[in-house]
Amino acid sequence: MSKTRFNAISAFASRPKLNVELPSEKISDFFASAVFGEKEMKEFLPSDAYKKLKASIKEGKKVDREIADQVASAMKAWAMKQGATHYTHWFQPLTGTTAEKHDSFFIPINGSGIEEFGADALVQQEPDASSFPSGGIRVTFEARGYSAWDITSPAFIMTVGSGKTLCIPTIFISYTGETLDFKAPLLKSIQALDNAATEVARYFDRDVKHVNTTLGWEQEYFLVDTAMYYARPDLVMTGRTLLGKRSPKGQQLEDHYFGAIPERVYAYMRDFENECLKLGIPIRTRHNEVAPSQYECAPMFEEANLAVDHNCLLMDVMDRVSSKHKLKVLFHEKPFAGINGSGKHNNWSLGTDTGVNLLSPGKTPRTNLQFLTFFINTIAAINKHEELLRSSVASHGNDHRLGANEAPPAILSVFTGSYLREVLDMIETRVDEDKFDEQDNITLRLDIHNRIPDIMLDNTDRNRTSPFAFTGNKFEFRAVGSSANCALPMTVLNAMVAEQLTQFKTEVDEYIKAGDYKDVAILKVLRKTIKESKRVIFEGDNYSEEWHKEAKKRGLSNNKNTPTALSVLVSEKSIKLFESLGIYSHREIEARYDIALETYSKAIQIESRVLGEMVVNQIIPACIEYQNKLINNLKGLKELGVNAKLYASQTSILTQICEGIEKLTALDKEMFDLRVKGNGISDTKKQALLYCDKVKPIMDEIREISDKLEGIVDDELWPLPKYREMLFAK
Ligand code: ADP
Ligand code: MG
Repeated sequence: MSKTRFNAISAFASRPKLNVELPSEKISDFFASAVFGEKEMKEFLPSDAYKKLKASIKEGKKVDREIADQVASAMKAWAMKQGATHYTHWFQPLTGTTAEKHDSFFIPINGSGIEEFGADALVQQEPDASSFPSGGIRVTFEARGYSAWDITSPAFIMTVGSGKTLCIPTIFISYTGETLDFKAPLLKSIQALDNAATEVARYFDRDVKHVNTTLGWEQEYFLVDTAMYYARPDLVMTGRTLLGKRSPKGQQLEDHYFGAIPERVYAYMRDFENECLKLGIPIRTRHNEVAPSQYECAPMFEEANLAVDHNCLLMDVMDRVSSKHKLKVLFHEKPFAGINGSGKHNNWSLGTDTGVNLLSPGKTPRTNLQFLTFFINTIAAINKHEELLRSSVASHGNDHRLGANEAPPAILSVFTGSYLREVLDMIETRVDEDKFDEQDNITLRLDIHNRIPDIMLDNTDRNRTSPFAFTGNKFEFRAVGSSANCALPMTVLNAMVAEQLTQFKTEVDEYIKAGDYKDVAILKVLRKTIKESKRVIFEGDNYSEEWHKEAKKRGLSNNKNTPTALSVLVSEKSIKLFESLGIYSHREIEARYDIALETYSKAIQIESRVLGEMVVNQIIPACIEYQNKLINNLKGLKELGVNAKLYASQTSILTQICEGIEKLTALDKEMFDLRVKGNGISDTKKQALLYCDKVKPIMDEIREISDKLEGIVDDELWPLPKYREMLFAK
């Protein structure tokens, strides 16, 4: 009998339920209590320093040394009052997780000491970090990397157990100034989009000085009991089940989505939400997702840089709190075969510093034209760079979702909803450039005006198959993987839209210069833009075969795996986009491409190694044990000379097991040989393709055979927690 598995089941069955209380009666009493925010700045900073810091944050300007010194000492005073003993620069290297290196405030001097934290420590740190991925940017002799204070994201205190650390959000760059993280390019893209969008927004309102990118993510995740988790080497090492026969019940009854949240899970949710709220993460929504044991949470949207930091923090907090509840949170895009995977929907919009959401249709013709301008230009940007946007969500985990018939496909298209589609068609057909006069223009505007309010009533998007859907006042990018850092897709999206808006502005200005009224000029360019971009609009079922055919006809890309998708990052068109906006240099993007390929190969390599071990050390021995049991039984049956039917069926199972073992052994060897080959290849693209095209299919074959064996081997002997146990134990 398999001890680990049955121990796990009984451990699970005797879990006590934790009781989680709110730290205070009202959330507003403790919201952001661990953040050095507005209130804390005011309290701990001299008023002059406070004003200067605020101005720097608002204008994105450098903080001078004297102010930095005052800020550092205010932060220290506040943090120590809260019980913090250490500080760290907190950053997002290209490993996909966050990084921190704690230093104590305390400095020993002559047998005693003082607590110190000054401008130097606040503004810049040199993490001893030559082993972060750099894609060859940091050769060993100049392996230094620097983290530098991001004044736009507030410092916070992270509590782990009873330890408290002041965390300062930072960017991470090399000695030579190249970016080595997710945050720095994101900040550059936000700036680029601010510049481009502000220019365009000023056609409609001269008071606009800045345009912010807003992001509201929705985070999907799975939960499994820790005992089951630790009994599965694949979950521990790779975050997903590499083997496992589907349970008879999956999500087909659709009884999980929005269902009652199990008590233990509910306690966990409340617990991590409390921690998030203290950290100023405006978490609001929680519910069950479609698959059994799958859940989702979402905050109020925020400025994109802060939202990305908050999503990274959330994942840290969720992971930490889950162990307290003897649960393990899984952020992998596809932890279980045969049921839905997890994504991280990125709701994206643009807001002016005058408080207007530029993707909100509005009620007057004026705001409608403004809305249409940003709406259509976003679509145009997607049309132009759909392949690049797809590459921004490419990862080994997301390959199991995209194009795998449940999540958005690998083909990027935009869903507008039928009302807006009509509006676009109307602009395209009715704005006739030859006889465009002020009169026509007004009728058109009024027509649009009459239609837009309907959208607001009816256009709550219910096309869940679309990867990029307009949802009333924002676009929702659904192809982002659940484990991803949102920064990369947001960086790419911002860059694309910035480029498009700049081009739009140039064209509109040309018409104006040639004597057109401003609105006429705008409508003319919009009309042309719709014409050029409409191939990317699709309102139907994105999972259907017909769409795949149709998309091909329209010339849209369908890059189904990571190595293929990634190559677009370094196309001439992409490099031009990034370089012209100052987001990535040629060298930076090449480096990132290399890192992504390498990460992919390593991930598949680890998966294939774990799979090999599980097959050799767990599956085959269990099969042999059952074989022996059957052989002994058959001997008995033969001696008795009875029950020919039973005899025949057991012989057949025996044969299947023998064949299974043989195949598994052969495939394992083949997989091993390929891995050895892969290890020897220095070309990262070739290596990734080898893992993708050769190793992965063998892993699939192994899984198929092993899952069949799971279906015939004695349940008592099966060593791994089964799907029904992991997914339905709550
Ligand atoms: P649904 O659940 O139907 O997708 P919601 O209105 O609940 O729609 O919003 C989902 C997410 O969209 C939330 O995370 C929310 O913060 C975000 N969101 C709403 N408005 C904006 C906006 N202007 N910019 C960015 N995100 C937004
Ligand atoms: Mg949504």
